Amino acid sequence: MERYPHLKQSDPEIYELIRKQADYESGTLKMIASESYASFSVLEACGSTLTNKYAEGYPGARYYEGNEFVDKIENLAIERGKALFGAEHINVQPYSGSPANHAVYQALLKTGDKLMGMPVPSGGHLTHGWKANFSGTDYVQIPYGPDPGTGKFDMDQIRETARKERPKMIWVGATAYPHKIEYKDFRAVADEIDAYLVADIAHINALIIAGVHPDPVPVCDIVTSTSHKMLRGPRAGFLLSKTEDRFQQKYFPGSKLNLAQRVDRAVFPGLQGGPHLAVIAAMAAAFKEASTPEFKEYGRQIVKNAKALAEAVLAKGYALAGGGTDTHLLILDFRKPVHGRELTGKEAAKALAEAGIIANFNMVPGDHRSPFVTSGVRLGTPSLTAMGMKEPEMQKIAGWIDRVCKNIAAIETEAPKIRQEIAEFCKQFTVPGIRSIL
Ligand SMILES: *Cc1c(COP(=O)(O)O)cnc(C)c1O
Repeated sequence: MERYPHLKQSDPEIYELIRKQADYESGTLKMIASESYASFSVLEACGSTLTNKYAEGYPGARYYEGNEFVDKIENLAIERGKALFGAEHINVQPYSGSPANHAVYQALLKTGDKLMGMPVPSGGHLTHGWKANFSGTDYVQIPYGPDPGTGKFDMDQIRETARKERPKMIWVGATAYPHKIEYKDFRAVADEIDAYLVADIAHINALIIAGVHPDPVPVCDIVTSTSHKMLRGPRAGFLLSKTEDRFQQKYFPGSKLNLAQRVDRAVFPGLQGGPHLAVIAAMAAAFKEASTPEFKEYGRQIVKNAKALAEAVLAKGYALAGGGTDTHLLILDFRKPVHGRELTGKEAAKALAEAGIIANFNMVPGDHRSPFVTSGVRLGTPSLTAMGMKEPEMQKIAGWIDRVCKNIAAIETEAPKIRQEIAEFCKQFTVPGIRSIL
């Protein structure tokens, strides 16, 4: 079946580039931890005619007419999202993960307020108070991060910082933390100082749905997420929240709005205009897919694959940040020399990409190299798992990773060979949204 026949006709330049990107993604190993594959159904909803519609406001309270059907669509997304995560409230309108996080600041803080979050080099997101982001210029970040020695959170240290600085909000969530996060422990710290606890589960939502990672929804005031990444929905964000604000008396005395209402106001009209209805329809479709037993199996297999890959590279003599993984990602720590050589994250990531293993260089805890060079490479398993790969495939992939590192001095000759092998290997698997098994 020909994809995008109209685009092919009217704009062959863009059509060709989209096709090439899809070929590239189905003939290489996509190991960027924040990526996976959306289904054909999600892509169809995303590319639908709903993109034409304006519907500022919320279902039943819009500033435009003609919303009979789009209200039903947004309500379905809301019902499915609440059921999926067991949440009291959900807002499905954020344009992406960063705007969802922006709405949290708008709903909970005032300019200049203090929050605790992880700096980007420690594995935090830009929107957790990083200096180059609005969250770092308009608010004051009190930094915390994994212990440089163990690579894990040290709750005593975190409690001490919280007691000393008394931030009004604590972010818990990461882009590069390979271990489980115990939200209950963070809740205990936050409660000691009357701070809001906000979880950012953009990276790990499918693991929570599958029950292989602790669930922040019962204990956090707000939970933010993207609907792309391992959830395999459209590129968008959503916010889960409690209805009542546990600190209403202290921080918002006299306000007539509860927490859920403040979250909604923060998104619209606080930060955004019209919701992207095609994207919301696609999010509803993704929530439906994520409610199936198959999706839970995918979530469980992501972790099994990451553990299998971790064991395989450890057995080959590689070091991992934090010693291993119990999530979807692992970080190779090249401070330990491999094949007699200490690589940088940057050179390793580049060589891997030439060989068809697409990942990213990443800081390791206590890294002495700059964020533009680093000593680590972050590897994720969601995309491989979505293609149907299991533990035996991880063994094979560890072998290719090792061959790249071993032959890094002659990578120009070795990479094309490995890349060819990987392209052949990928043909055995379905690539959701791109192709069935050939
Ligand atoms: C990806 C990510 C986001 C932001 O998502 P965008 O859609 O890229 O804006 C926020 N928080 C975390 C932890 C993320 O990994």
